[in-house]
Amino acid sequence: MSDRKAIRGTFLDFIDDPFFRPATESARFLADGLLVVEAGRIVNFGDYDEVRSQHPTLEITHYPHHLITPGFIDLHTHYPQTEMIAAYGEQLMEWLDKYTFPTEAKFQDADYARRIAVFFLEELLRNGTTTAVVLPTIFPQSVEVFFEEAQRRNLRMIAGQVLMSRNAPDFMINPAGKAYEEMRSQIQKWHGQDRLLYAITPRFAITSTPEELAMAGALKAEFPEVYVHTHLSENLKEVEFTAQLFPESRDYLNVYEQFGLVGDRSIFAHCVQLDESAFGRLSKAGAAIAYCPTSNLFLGSGLFKLHQAKSVTQPIKVGLATDVGAGTSFSMLKTMGEAYKVAQLQGQSLSSLQAFYLATLGAAKALSLDDRLGNFAIGKEADFVVLDPTATPLMKLRNPKPATTLEEVMEQAFTLMIVGDDRMVKATYVGGAIAHSLL
Ligand SMILES: [Zn+2]
Repeated sequence: MSDRKAIRGTFLDFIDDPFFRPATESARFLADGLLVVEAGRIVNFGDYDEVRSQHPTLEITHYPHHLITPGFIDLHTHYPQTEMIAAYGEQLMEWLDKYTFPTEAKFQDADYARRIAVFFLEELLRNGTTTAVVLPTIFPQSVEVFFEEAQRRNLRMIAGQVLMSRNAPDFMINPAGKAYEEMRSQIQKWHGQDRLLYAITPRFAITSTPEELAMAGALKAEFPEVYVHTHLSENLKEVEFTAQLFPESRDYLNVYEQFGLVGDRSIFAHCVQLDESAFGRLSKAGAAIAYCPTSNLFLGSGLFKLHQAKSVTQPIKVGLATDVGAGTSFSMLKTMGEAYKVAQLQGQSLSSLQAFYLATLGAAKALSLDDRLGNFAIGKEADFVVLDPTATPLMKLRNPKPATTLEEVMEQAFTLMIVGDDRMVKATYVGGAIAHSLL
């Protein structure tokens, strides 16, 4: 039996990059559109009248005065840090020692890990996030329960066991040889299973020995289709310590380059302290940056140079990320708002279209998943979010009328990213089915 159904409303998505193309050529706005989904995919999309005439019998859900966008993609976050969000008073290295490692140690307990994984995934959906690149912990059971719960919800998620073999408390160390066997069997079990994908995940250069990074590189060579996901150049003290640990590397990025970990399926979180040369090498390698504005502000790490990363001459693939629990919100709308402020502090601006792009098609491109995710192109996976621009009294005052033009929707989207949060997420659809709803 067909599960074909349709969603009617106002749609905004992207067909090109608004950092490089004008709004009218990069964004697609339908004031009254119809999205037809079947078997988890988009089978038709366009103006309501036109698409409706092609499907005379169709079950339609209508969201008047809402804005429907592709599901948000969070390019970097830590599910075990959910319960330690808002940990006071430290910068990166001290924050890890004082709060993070003791919290992550609890994930030896699979039942505990599952409880937090479930909470985390539900929280993503409450915020309209349908795909995320996620760090579990060093414990294989924390990886297993995460994949199991993501699979149960039919989510497209990317994760992989965290590698740590030095510069951490004993209880957070896993020998590289043991980790290799664990990761190998996880890749075989989970990568490409339903919508799940695997990432080789050294925490960062500081917590890996050269032998462990060599092992990670060997595993990547053995399974070139899996991702590499790690942190890069977040905090000045971290950069200095990395230079001491790897004196033969020309800079932080070069540590990963030397071990074969920098390529077009590599995702590097932060990149706040990178210089011109490193930006150029990331561009050349086709690697992606996960830009985490709330986290960079919270830990006082610095201001990411988004406009340098999106330069015409050396463009780098960038997506937005929450980086919970150093990030301060699960909301990609709030994350966009903080990215706007970080741009302002550097004398730049970030348009609503650019911000929404970084959380949808831009992030899908960063993951080389733009053939499956990121916009409403026919054939893509039907993950999308229904946003309510009148969800609160203030938003109702600010957005009294539905958007009918591209200019109006740009303004409305801007109010969503500056004032908005999870209250604006009316419904989240995964594979064409409602996964979260305020109704
Ligand atoms: Zn992180």
